[in-house]
Amino acid sequence: MNDGAADTCIFCKLAKGQVRAEIVFQDDQVIAFKDIHPQAPVHVLVIPRRHITALWETDESDEPLLGRMLTVCNEVARDLGVETSGYRVVVNSGPDAGQSVDHLHFHMLGGRTLEWPPG
Ligand code: AMP
Ligand code: ZN
Repeated sequence: MNDGAADTCIFCKLAKGQVRAEIVFQDDQVIAFKDIHPQAPVHVLVIPRRHITALWETDESDEPLLGRMLTVCNEVARDLGVETSGYRVVVNSGPDAGQSVDHLHFHMLGGRTLEWPPG
């Protein structure tokens, strides 16, 4: 990561309160907010406050943060009523996965039956 990337990153701006979002959870490490183009009745993004480009940029030192992000996915799923009906956590990492925002984010999707395999 370089500071230039973080300066222009939409999710860094969102984390600093410079871009509006419907935040459903936040703590000192992570923020969860509703996706602006929801692909399911429940579609929340969970991001680290710190700029990390993608999952490919993480290593063992990030394991506590990555674990926290997964726990927050479940806490938000519970709060939004899909913990037991079911939900999916998706992480697109890199071009072949279709990652469009270069700041690590976990998608948490639920509220309808989701197809498998993904496209
Ligand atoms: P990905 O394609 O995995 O990189 O996902 C990026 C996601 O970010 C997409 O689902 C977008 O709809 C979502 N997104 C982009 N900008 C915003 C924003 N300002 N607020 C909320 N969601 C956003
Ligand atoms: Zn960022």
